[in-house]
Parts: sequence; structure tokens; C-alpha cells
Amino acid sequence: MTAARKGTLIAGDGIGPEVVSAAVRVLEATGIVIDWDAQMAGAMAIAKEGTPLPEKTLESIRTHGLALKGPTTTPVGGGHTSINVALRKALDLYANVRPIKSLPGVKTRYENVDLVVIRENTEDLYSGLEHVVVPGVVESIKVITEKASTRIAKFAFAYARANGRKRVTAVHKANIMKLSDGLFLDCCAKVAKDFPDIKYDDIIVDNCCMQLVLDPTRFDMLLLENLYGDIVSDLCAGLIGGLGLAPGANVGEKGATFEAVHGSAPDIAGKNIANPIALILSAAMLLDYIGENAAGNRVREAVLSVLKDGKVMPRDLGGTASTTAVAEAIAERVAS
Ligand code: NAD
Repeated sequence: MTAARKGTLIAGDGIGPEVVSAAVRVLEATGIVIDWDAQMAGAMAIAKEGTPLPEKTLESIRTHGLALKGPTTTPVGGGHTSINVALRKALDLYANVRPIKSLPGVKTRYENVDLVVIRENTEDLYSGLEHVVVPGVVESIKVITEKASTRIAKFAFAYARANGRKRVTAVHKANIMKLSDGLFLDCCAKVAKDFPDIKYDDIIVDNCCMQLVLDPTRFDMLLLENLYGDIVSDLCAGLIGGLGLAPGANVGEKGATFEAVHGSAPDIAGKNIANPIALILSAAMLLDYIGENAAGNRVREAVLSVLKDGKVMPRDLGGTASTTAVAEAIAERVAS
């Protein structure tokens, strides 16, 4: 008998514990056994360990190379810096992969959306380099390097090739940030030459947002720096029905963490009404990552089937079903 795969489980804040237990329920229904090491990050970690991201949480992910993570709250303005940014940097999870796909039974303005957002995860304005120059004047430093830009571009093109994608569009503001975004763009164009089977083009970020809202089907894969990737991901989630449906993965050379695009949603936390599908689809990506593609497909098919059926719909999609009811309906179809 082979030993069960081990992974780190982080419940997180707000709706995190609710959607994480929903995703674990669905994972269990696949029959794939993952031996979870539950670790803290976020508000509970501050209360119990005095830090939002305890070293033992990082150590657990380093050891297992795999984590399923609920969202964590980052205070606005002051307070601690983002746990997510710290985690991605500490473990060098440099590629954020966010598939955006229309789902049946979900009313939106768009049909046949099928995009993948690839976001650089380790630098840009998320470097956390901010200081007060003199009172009333602050600087936030945008760091773009050739190394990180080339690495994320290679990841995007390799992903395109491995997943039957046809085109990668680099998104930038190199007309204004000629040095930083100019460097990012140069690196993308250089890497594109090594992948002649994948079409390559680029677009200025503001135009990209307008084109996405007019007709998202004109894009295939978007390749972005950290900040544009963060913002455009939420825009893309809106195209398919909202944050309750958008999954994600943070991938590095030595491991990966799986988490939804959405945050801790404090406005609906603790009410058992959050949509767990985004994290359930992230869990399906986790199954693919560990080589259990058949189980990942079963999870995706179960989600599609529940949504198509329309009988057990979460609140954000106009239904009345609770988080646990949606998870149960998906788990039952996975198991059947
Ligand atoms: P959010 O994603 O938490 O919520 C935005 C809106 O979407 C809210 O109205 C919320 O109710 C709704 N929503 C989000 N997820 C949903 C779900 N699964 N089901 C139904 N509705 C859902 O964004 P925010 O309010 O800007 O951020 C809240 C906190 O989350 C902040 O502290 C932010 O820093 C943090 N955050 C964390 C992560 C992460 O941990 N990966 C990502 C984004 C934001």
C-alpha cells in the first residue's frame, strides 16, 4: 500500500474555514486520501502564536510541497503586511494560475469565456518597499527584474503548450512605465521566440480591461505582472459570474498552494452562505497537480452537473443553498 500524500491545510479567516471544509469534503468524496497537516495563518495565528504567518506553517508547506488554503484578511492601510504575499515570496511560488471559464446554469452577460490568467507573484509593487520621503510624500517601489519576468513568461508559454492553448497576450503599461513594464515586455517577447507554435501579442492594460468587458472570448491566455494580474483576475471572475467561481494555484519549483481568487469576504463570514465552488475548483487543480487528473475531472464534472441542474444553487448565483449544502451536492455526485 502506498502512503497517503501529505499536504498543509490552512483554514484562513472570514469565510475561509467554511469553504475549506467544503473543499475537503469534496476531496474526500473522490477517494484520494490526503493526510492534512492543519496549520494556522491569519487572525487565529495572531491570537495564538503572535504572528500572522508562523514559521511552522511555512515549514509544513516546505516539507509537503502542497497546500490548500482559505483566504486571509489583510488590514487596509496599517497593520500586518499580506500573508499571501509573504507566503508566495517565502516559498517562491512565482506563478499564479487562474483559469476563468463560463459555467452552465450561471447567468452572466457572456458565453464561452475560456481564459487563463498567469500572474507573476513575487515582485512588482508587491515588493513591500514603501517609505515616507518627507511628511506628505510617500514612495512605493515597483521592482521588475529580467529573471522573474523571463521565468513567468517561460511558465506561461510552457503552460500554453501543455494545455492546448493557442495564444499568450502580455498585458502592460510600457507606454508610461517604459523601464519596468518595458523590461517585462522585452522578456515576454524574447521567450515567445522559443515557442513558435504559440501566438504572441501584447496589449496595454487599460485597453485590455475594456476589450475584456466588450468581448472576453477574444483572449486565450493573459500574462501579467503582479498588480495588473491581481486586478484583472477579479475583473475576469466577474465575467463568469463572480468571485465564488474563480479558482487559483500558486506554483513554484518546489511546491504549490491552491486557493480561490476571492478574499475572506467578511461581509458574509460565519453565515454558511459563501459559495464554496471557487475553492472546490482549486482543489480540483490540486488533484491535477498531484497527478490525480481523473479525480480532478470528476470534481469539475460534478460542479458542472450541480450548476446545470440548478436545484442546489449558492446565494451569490441567485439560489438559497448553504455552503455545506452545495458541497454535499457536489460530493455526492463525485462519489456516485
Ligand atoms: P473579497 O474577495 O473577500 O470579497 C469581495 C466581494 O465578493 C464581497 O462582496 C464578498 O461577499 C464576495 N465574495 C467573495 N468570495 C465569495 C464567495 N466565495 N461566495 C460568495 N461571495 C463571495 O474581497 P475584499 O472584500 O476586497 O477583501 C476582504 C479581505 O480579503 C481583505 O482583507 C483582503 O486583503 C483579503 N484578500 C485575501 C485574499 C487571499 O487570501 N488570497 C485574496 C483577496 C483578498
